[in-house]
Amino acid sequence: MKKHNFYAGPSILPNDTIKNTAENIIDFAGTGLSLMEVSHRGKEFVAVMDEAQYLFKELLNIPDTHDVLFLGGGASLQFAMIPFNIMKSKAAYVNTGAWANKAVKEAKGFGEVVEVASSKDANYNFFPKDYEIPTDADYLHITTNNTIYGTELHTDLDIDTLLVADMSSDIFSRPVDVSKYAIIYGGAQKNLAPSGIAFVIIRRDILGKVDRFIPTMLDYNTHIKGGSMFNTPPVVPIFAALQTLKWLKAQGGVEAMYKKNIEKASILYNEIDTNPMFKGTVVDKEDRSLMNICWVMNEGYEQYEKEFLDFATEKGMIGIKGHRSVGGYRASTYNALPKESVEALVACMQEFKNLKA
Ligand SMILES: *Cc1c(COP(=O)(O)O)cnc(C)c1O
Repeated sequence: MKKHNFYAGPSILPNDTIKNTAENIIDFAGTGLSLMEVSHRGKEFVAVMDEAQYLFKELLNIPDTHDVLFLGGGASLQFAMIPFNIMKSKAAYVNTGAWANKAVKEAKGFGEVVEVASSKDANYNFFPKDYEIPTDADYLHITTNNTIYGTELHTDLDIDTLLVADMSSDIFSRPVDVSKYAIIYGGAQKNLAPSGIAFVIIRRDILGKVDRFIPTMLDYNTHIKGGSMFNTPPVVPIFAALQTLKWLKAQGGVEAMYKKNIEKASILYNEIDTNPMFKGTVVDKEDRSLMNICWVMNEGYEQYEKEFLDFATEKGMIGIKGHRSVGGYRASTYNALPKESVEALVACMQEFKNLKA
């Protein structure tokens, strides 16, 4: 039976990424050696790193003011590295969920954190848009897509303060105006590569303005100067990321992805909105994520929660159990997820309704 992979992360990757990475783990670029057992300074791997950074910039139309880095430690290390490198005394954070909270917690170790807006009282079921940023804030931090709660900010903010965004789960899902951001970062394991790297897009001129000592490995300048090769980088995830970037380009880039993602999400949201058994958790349509779609049983059908999960899993829908803090279901519809998988899930929801409602 075909399995449809709706996991939130690590999550579905293009077949090309998995196949090419597997092949090169056996024989890397015709060297007769594994990708895992050759020098990262050899010309074959240097070419991989160069092309990955080049394609990353090309696909997102990244201006020359910014660099692209691949670093260990995941998005979670960036929660600390960002304030370590650019927070002088005060930073503003929008609290849109569990990941945003973790970012706040780290920033508090480096200065004053002003939570300018929060959707916490509504269990994060909307994306706050009305707030004031203190004029003396060193930067504003946002989480553009909230993987757990299924909310997303679909536009690029236009503000005077430096803008820092966690795009772990929506990078490459839509075109982004990178020039509006000082830093865009995220873990690779949602839409790009296996876990093991974070990507960081950073504007060079924001660095070097804090007085504190920054350990070498936590200093962005170390990695900018070293071209993400100051020390041995995670070579397998970087190789895999390059395969995904090539796939993205062949698919028509982020514009084409965006169209496809809108189409997939509309199919599923439409079923959630029209099937009497179900209801979406994010009510305001403009806040609904294109990447992580959350829903629960409608009133009167709560007793079927577990039964539908088992029913769908039986039919090959993998990873649709909602995060424990939201309950219900979550289907992650990342770039690599084909439309057929969304259609199969919708068919399952309709079949279940015909059996029960
Ligand atoms: C998954 C996720 C993270 C955490 O990423 P790690 O690489 O595991 O540290 C952070 N932010 C968001 C929005 C995520 O979805």
